[in-house]
Amino acid sequence: MTIQEFRNEPFTDFADPAVRLAQQEALDRVTAQLGDRHPLIIGGEAVWTAQTIRSTSPSDPDLLVGEVASAGEAEALFALQAADRAFRTWSRTPADARARVLLKGAAILRRRKFEFNAWLIQEAGKPWPEADADTAEAIDFLEYYARQMLRLAGAQPVVPYPGEENNLYYLPLGVGVVHPPFNFPLAIMAGMTAAAIVTGNTVVVKPSVHAPVVCAKFFEVLAEAGLPAGVANFLPGDPAALGDLLTIHPLVRFVNFTGSAAVGSMLYEKAAKVQPGQRFLRRYIAEMGGKDAIVVAADADLDAAAQGIVASAFGFSGQKCSACSRVIADEHIYEELLTKVVTLAGRLKLGPATDPETQVGPVINAGAVERISRAIESGKSEGRLVFGGEASVSQGYMVQPTIIADVAPDARIAQEEIFGPVVAFMKADDFRHALEIANNTPYGLTGAIFTRDRANLEIAREEFHVGNLYLNRKCTGALVGVQPFGGFNMSGTDSKAGGPDYLLLFLQGKAVSERL
Ligand code: NAD
Repeated sequence: MTIQEFRNEPFTDFADPAVRLAQQEALDRVTAQLGDRHPLIIGGEAVWTAQTIRSTSPSDPDLLVGEVASAGEAEALFALQAADRAFRTWSRTPADARARVLLKGAAILRRRKFEFNAWLIQEAGKPWPEADADTAEAIDFLEYYARQMLRLAGAQPVVPYPGEENNLYYLPLGVGVVHPPFNFPLAIMAGMTAAAIVTGNTVVVKPSVHAPVVCAKFFEVLAEAGLPAGVANFLPGDPAALGDLLTIHPLVRFVNFTGSAAVGSMLYEKAAKVQPGQRFLRRYIAEMGGKDAIVVAADADLDAAAQGIVASAFGFSGQKCSACSRVIADEHIYEELLTKVVTLAGRLKLGPATDPETQVGPVINAGAVERISRAIESGKSEGRLVFGGEASVSQGYMVQPTIIADVAPDARIAQEEIFGPVVAFMKADDFRHALEIANNTPYGLTGAIFTRDRANLEIAREEFHVGNLYLNRKCTGALVGVQPFGGFNMSGTDSKAGGPDYLLLFLQGKAVSERL
């Protein structure tokens, strides 16, 4: 199959009035569909349930985005069985036919980009450019994994041996379960699903209860792209009620999880136990939280550093696993940098995600407002509140961008993931000390360094222990294929989503030797 080289999907320029109008019209069309009901999809069939999940808009909690069927154990079992049946044919479907479904899905998403942006704006509370980046990343994952599968389906390099023909083939694993997080309800969910199915596996996708409608819409795309029934099953439901069954059932060959370290570690333990009737060690892929730091050296370009910090800390209200939640600055520039960051933070426009001017929108729900507010309160006793600190639920779930200075490296606010627009400033004696502080959390996801000193850049390359390190730029916004993504330590299994090794996590190698 002839296919163009992979290129990242460009971001939309909302400064263009025509583009802005097109996005607004899509938002209006989606707004007219809010409140629609969405069934489970099991074996290609719509399944309605008595229980439902009511998904509301973080910008306006009175607005019902959609009502989604909620699976119980019986439906979960049907879904696993449907996936198991579909595996028998899908696993033997040629790789190029499987890849074509992803390419077609990418084309459909590209055509419906403004509409998907609109669902993300409404259901996840993403400001326009953040929603657009989510949709673009989903397109990228489909395009990229299609190409990676074609590569892995081709002849694999093995050393020639006299008198034998040797081959290495990659085979799918079986039925998998996909647990995506709420914060990239399209991109991460689509990427986790696409990788699992393009490799010939079949899946049950249990979306986040905070963003099931976006997932339901993605299932429309998969169906339109021609994915056979049962290959991907849509199974929203209460995670606590379904989690065990979807992890330990003997049909579950692999679990693909992205979310918090607490849930990811708990599922890891359960997934590891071999159950009666289970004939394999279950594969477990987990991408988890972060406590990401930006280190600023005494010689850094402080304006660039301040811009990088504000974008990384407050973009999508800090609800990115890669978000900067710690700034570690050399004591010689500490106050100057802090002043610059406070000034830039003061210019951010807060508001509902539906407003194109909004730069910082709501957080996902009332529970998040409460959790982040508690972290801010405790942070105030651990440092000096220099900006923000307020939260409100009267017009959407709003939390002000918040900066707490003079925090000790071992303070709770410097150690625990907050997942909100809160950043802690810490003072370091010098560059080495700053790196030491940066490495001193249980996590190791992203990090950034601002310095003009080449020697320091080289030291950081070696010693800053994170899966995604950025030099003289922000620590968010990894691009598929460009920056394969995944973290060390309690940030997960370093799966490197969007990288050339990712699909191997869903495959098993079989070496075949024929004597000639
Ligand atoms: P979460 O841990 O609450 O949920 C993640 C997924 O697990 C969801 O699908 C949820 O339904 C499911 N889940 C929750 N409880 C479960 C249970 N008891 N049994 C089975 N499944 C269960 O995470 P979240 O709030 O949706 O997402 C935010 C977290 O995800 C943050 O910690 C963030 O850092 C992390 N994250 C990491 C990455 C990465 O690539 N490392 C990317 C995005 C988000």
